[in-house]
Amino acid sequence: MNLLIIRLIIFAVLFFAGLKLYGMYREWKLDREALEQKPERRDSGQMVRCQWCDVHVPEEEALREQQQWFCSSAHRDRFLQEQREETPAQDKHDDADKRD
Ligand SMILES: [Zn+2]
Repeated sequence: MNLLIIRLIIFAVLFFAGLKLYGMYREWKLDREALEQKPERRDSGQMVRCQWCDVHVPEEEALREQQQWFCSSAHRDRFLQEQREETPAQDKHDDADKRD
């Protein structure tokens, strides 16, 4: 008789422990799925300005080059090209463009 009660108690404990573990597992799994499925929820909304066209773009979509922001690779290239042309070797006169 006593043995039966002890078995019943053990069974009940195991049953509830199992239920609780299962519940915890489900919660953990749901949490993980929610985390993985979260799309771009954490965009800080930080806007940066394109050095070339002054358009404001989200930081994630902008390109960074020489501590400047650009809205596209085309504008980045244009800016870098311009920069290169603006600062030639200052000692020499570069008349390559003025040749007639
Ligand atoms: Zn731009």
